[in-house]
Order: sequence, then structure tokens, then C-alpha cells
Amino acid sequence: MRVVGPAAGSGSSYAVGMAEREKAERESAGNGVGGAPGAIEPLAALRRIAFLMERTRGETRRVEAFRKAAATIVRLPPGELADRAAVGTLTDLPAVGKSTGAVIAQALAGERPDYLVDLEAAGAADALVEGSEPLLSQLRGDLHSHSNWSDGGSPIEEMVATAMELGREYLALTDHSRGLRVANGLSEERLAKQLDVVAAVDAHVRGSGFRLLSGIEVDILDDGGLDQKPELLERLDVVVDSVHSKLPSPAAAMTKRMLGAIENPRTNVLGHCTGRLVEGRRGTRQPSQFDAKAVFAACAAHDVAVEINSRPERCDPPDELIELALEAGCLFSIDTDSHAPGQLDFLAYGAARAQRLGVPPERIVTTWEVDRLLDWAARR
Ligand SMILES: [Zn+2]
Ligand SMILES: [Zn+2]
Repeated sequence: MRVVGPAAGSGSSYAVGMAEREKAERESAGNGVGGAPGAIEPLAALRRIAFLMERTRGETRRVEAFRKAAATIVRLPPGELADRAAVGTLTDLPAVGKSTGAVIAQALAGERPDYLVDLEAAGAADALVEGSEPLLSQLRGDLHSHSNWSDGGSPIEEMVATAMELGREYLALTDHSRGLRVANGLSEERLAKQLDVVAAVDAHVRGSGFRLLSGIEVDILDDGGLDQKPELLERLDVVVDSVHSKLPSPAAAMTKRMLGAIENPRTNVLGHCTGRLVEGRRGTRQPSQFDAKAVFAACAAHDVAVEINSRPERCDPPDELIELALEAGCLFSIDTDSHAPGQLDFLAYGAARAQRLGVPPERIVTTWEVDRLLDWAARR
């Protein structure tokens, strides 16, 4: 089964100025690019290759080459690419190498680049998992994502453009909080600055019916406090709380810590609650121990959604805890925890799990319309 995604064909529309850019590129090429079957603009080709590699967990450095080349050509004056292709100087451009240069040249010539054809032939565009429908099609957005302001790989605009192309209605940007230094967590000043950027991007895309929501993935501190100023948390649309440190603590201490966060009136979502890792480059990690009954009872009482984290290496909470949270009457949020645009497609993994475990769509806040979601998050 083929899935939709960025520039699956030649006619996708782009957010945040990309449409204008590609139109200029098409006109300057002047050779009917976009008309031949499978033809694709150079920028769209680079973005689609990166997207497909990210959604199938390709090697970061190889993906980066395509993202960086895309970032280079999006800034070029119209016509420069075609001129360079004609005289063979594409690879003189910053971040354009042999592979990316070949993709650009083939796209300019009206061909579907071999690199993209090979990826698609290898199944990179196929459904990620069976059994995600019909729930997946009911999910409107995602409350957990990262940009290159913290430890994500791409700018906010690229995350937004991809979320729009995937048919989402909203995306919450939830970069890490200040204490998580390894992830370049945002200080008060940087978060305040990011809020301006988020507001500007949101204003730009609202006309297309999309919303970029402000947010944070805030560290739950040892004492159950949250790692950001209450005044700043108040300004955000969505607050996701997560434990990122001292995961192997005794159950009593961990329970107390989590309850402290859940009882905070600003908390909306409890992120990847056990912290376990079931596979992947970082190896495996045991789930942290806590009184799950008490934690989920508190989530239900304080109207905090339990996150179903879609990342394949997290797969958190485990099945038995999702079942316990269901019994406790909790709400859920199916999130991707994306650190790259292509990972926004991971939503299918979480949807397949929720579907299999019989989580009712009505209890998943990310099936709600955005206005209802925002009212819930603001506790109106
Ligand atoms: Zn996290
Ligand atoms: Zn995260």
C-alpha cells in the first residue's frame, strides 16, 4: 500500500513559502517539469527522499545530506539551478554533493531521480504497520514534536510543512526544557523567543486551516516540580511532562515524583511514562518502576492524558499499562515524539497499538477538533 506524504506526486502544495519557490523553479526550468509521469521538482525530490528515509529510520548522516541540499537550493534565485545544471556546477553549491547533485540534475531534466525511484521500489513509501486504520484516519494532530531548537534535526517550518502534507490539522511544537542540556533544552529566554516564532508561523499557515500550537516537553524534576517557570508554562497551548533522568529510581520515589507533575494544573500530557527502550541504536532500557494504579488514577482525576508514544524504540506505555490506564478512565494522546519531519509518520505505530488494545477514539484527545483540544488543554 502506498501512503501519501510530501511530494508523492508532482503537484503537492507546500507550506511556508515552498510553493512559491517551486513554482519559480518550474518556470525557470521551462521544460515541462511536472508534466511527465513521475516528474518532480528538485526541491520536492530532495525533501521526499529525506522524508522517506526518516520515516523508515534511515541513517541520520545520509538523511542530513538531503535536508542540507534542500536548504541550500530553497534559497537560490530562480533559474540558478538550471544554469548550474547546464554547465555542470551543481556540486559547487554548499551541501550539494554527488548524490544530491544527481537528484537535482535528474529532476531538472524532467525525470524521476533514480535515488527516489530506488527508495520507493525498496518499500520506503509503503505503510509502516498493519492495523492502524480506521483509527489513524481519525487522528487530527500530534502533541509532541521537536525542532532543531532542541534536539530535533529540522527547522520548525519544515516540521510544519510536512505535518500539513500528511494531512494533519495541527502540530504542537514541544522542544525540551532547560534542564535537559544534552538535548539543548530551551532556557526561559529561548522559549520566549521561540513563542514569537511559533506565533509567526502559525499566523502564516492558519489560512490553510492548519494550526501550529506552542508547547514544551518539560522535564519532571526530582521533587515532582516542572523544569520551567510557571508564567511561561501558562503561555503555552500544550504542556507535555516527561521523566528524563534517574529512571531507575525506587518505585515510591518515582511515583511521588510523577504525581507531583500530574497534579500541576498546567500539565496536559504525561509523556512516555515508563521511559523504556525496546530496540534501536541506544540499546534497550527497562521501564522505570512506579505505582501505575496511583499514577493513572491521578491522570484521570486531573484530566491529564496518558501519552501513547509512537516511536518504535519506545513503544511506551507497554500494553498492560495502556490497559490499566483504560480501566482507570484516562484520556490518551497518540503522539510521535518526532525529531525529524519524516518521523511525523510514526503516528501509524501508535494508532495500530491503540486500535489493537481497543482504546475508544473519543478518549483520544488527538481525535478531537482543535478548538475542543485547546479548550481542554487550557482547562476552560
Ligand atoms: Zn522525552
Ligand atoms: Zn520528546
